[in-house]
Amino acid sequence: MAEPVTEEYTYIVVGGGIAGVTCAEHLYILHPEAQTLVLTASPLIKAVTNVLPLTKTLDTFEVEEHDPNTLQSKCPSVSVIRDFVAHLDVEKQLVHTSTGRCFSYQKLCVCTGATPKLLAERGPHVVWLRDTESAQQFQAQIKDARRIMIVGNGGIATEMVYEVTGVEVIWAMKDKHMTAHFIDPGAAEFMQPELLKEKDEGPTVSKRRKYTVEHSSQLSGTSLVGGSLGPDWHSGLKLKGKTERKIIMEKEVEVKRIFEPMEVTQLQEMVTYLNSEEGEWPVYVELTNGKIYGCDFIVSAIGVTPNVSAVTSGNKFALGEDGGLLIDEKMRTSEKNIFAAGDVCSPGWQIAPHWFQMRLWTQARQMGSYAAKCMWSSQAGEEIYMDFCFELFSHATKFFGHKVILLGLFNGQGLDGKYEILLRYTRGMEYIKCVMVEGRMQGAVLIGETDLEETFENLILNQMDLSEYGEDLLNPDIDIEDYFD
Ligand code: FAD
Repeated sequence: MAEPVTEEYTYIVVGGGIAGVTCAEHLYILHPEAQTLVLTASPLIKAVTNVLPLTKTLDTFEVEEHDPNTLQSKCPSVSVIRDFVAHLDVEKQLVHTSTGRCFSYQKLCVCTGATPKLLAERGPHVVWLRDTESAQQFQAQIKDARRIMIVGNGGIATEMVYEVTGVEVIWAMKDKHMTAHFIDPGAAEFMQPELLKEKDEGPTVSKRRKYTVEHSSQLSGTSLVGGSLGPDWHSGLKLKGKTERKIIMEKEVEVKRIFEPMEVTQLQEMVTYLNSEEGEWPVYVELTNGKIYGCDFIVSAIGVTPNVSAVTSGNKFALGEDGGLLIDEKMRTSEKNIFAAGDVCSPGWQIAPHWFQMRLWTQARQMGSYAAKCMWSSQAGEEIYMDFCFELFSHATKFFGHKVILLGLFNGQGLDGKYEILLRYTRGMEYIKCVMVEGRMQGAVLIGETDLEETFENLILNQMDLSEYGEDLLNPDIDIEDYFD
């Protein structure tokens, strides 16, 4: 068989998620005359819109799904091809795809995201949320549901528990309190009343342009490679079951076993359970605390694994402890001329004291933009410095309808419990927590409209000694914004 013709590009970006698209956009800004190719397995690409700067390191933005043509018309030297990268020849600098095409690059950036960790084999009763298609499947399944189990305690599980209505939710989590990756028990208590409310049924207006993703449009061998959803993944979806909303939290548990109905009659503990419960369920879950719940389906939201297999097979990439592509301070992987950004990578540089990686869209965007600078500088022989955003962890989100801003070591990460907490708390209004070590601010959680993000960002970055202010730092009668400006 004849060898495929090699199509030549200066830059190739693999992945059409936030990291990949941001990287391609910035390559166009930095090097518009160079030919850039985005290779992506998903039919739609992600676009960041309505960027609103909040602080030096933090922006809020929306994520929309666009047809690839929109990127090509905005950035004329960027082409987008929908194909699945099947193999990477790092010696010859060639990318081979599942449709048999071959592309050469001078610099390549891997932005293939992450894949949901599997609680069990995906089946009719175990689902997870990752892309538009899985979100639509979730919507279709919940409309006939009386009870679902959501397993996990991260951002996805938290948003899901908040967004669903008209259904009983068993929320199973490993931690002692909800949303433990992001907030402490105090903040969890602050949010809890919102969690238990039945939500108003507002109109389901979607800000996102909608596309129907046909099953037949899936590339072969590409299940689980759609781009991760954006911040507004639930807008436009009707996540309503057919009964009353009720939330039952099962804390400090894991899933022990999952049973299909035909298995239940064979087990003594299940017979006891069935005698105490009315009705039959499509699936049963036994938790490690011994409880058994029947439900319509289970949502697995237990985290993600970096999606590296397409590029690692046959190659010797160095990997981080969590299995991501290990990158240095110039976003370079261990293989020549190959960079990585977003959920797929694991930072291997000496990180700043108040920054750490969390697989979030904020960081996917920041990394995509910085990776473009690194690729261009290595191509052009220009010196660049590490982007300022890697000085401080910062993230803006919404939990249970409240604005949430997380700064620095907001949960005392890496401080070994050796820190003090300053707290200001007005029920239903605001929750402000500062993590302090020897009078210096290390991190903060700001819930509600506090307007303190810029001041606190400065206080964490400049490590000013605040000991003399003591608890007055959060005294509502003192306008600390003016004080420290
Ligand atoms: P992705 O967006 O996953 O993009 C990966 C791209 O690579 C896709 O286009 C895919 O098709 C492509 N690809 C993969 N393999 C191949 C291959 N072999 N060949 C070609 N293309 C390939 N983050 C937050 O900050 N806040 C939240 O509240 C939040 N909620 C979330 C809710 C849900 C339901 C999900 C799933 C994620 C959520 N996240 C949240 C995480 C956030 O979406 C991700 O961190 C971010 O989107 C990662 O971007 P990425 O570009 O690295 O990867």
